[in-house]
Amino acid sequence: MKGKIVIDKELCKGCKYCVMSCPKGVIIMEKQFNTTGYFPASPKYIDKCTGCGFCAQMCPELAIEVWSTNNKEKRIRSPRRDAEEAETEKT
Ligand code: SF4
Ligand code: SF4
Repeated sequence: MKGKIVIDKELCKGCKYCVMSCPKGVIIMEKQFNTTGYFPASPKYIDKCTGCGFCAQMCPELAIEVWSTNNKEKRIRSPRRDAEEAETEKT
């Protein structure tokens, strides 16, 4: 499968869990601060992404969305949206 990820850099706290969890070495850390003073993660080698979702699963800030790019783009994993939907269902 081919995939891509989208990282919300403003939510990122620079923990590097996503970098360590990616089996394909897709993600790097940027050298410029985000507005909250962290060096954010960035999907640099996106051609290698398989859409496995490990990075999104590891991110404590729920800052990563995973998309499948096989035929048509389709979001396949978004822990933040899942959490928001679960919260909405409670109310
Ligand atoms: S979805 Fe998988 S291959 Fe793609 S960046 Fe995340 S961990 Fe790496
Ligand atoms: S796991 Fe999340 S918070 Fe940690 S560096 Fe990656 S995107 Fe940032």
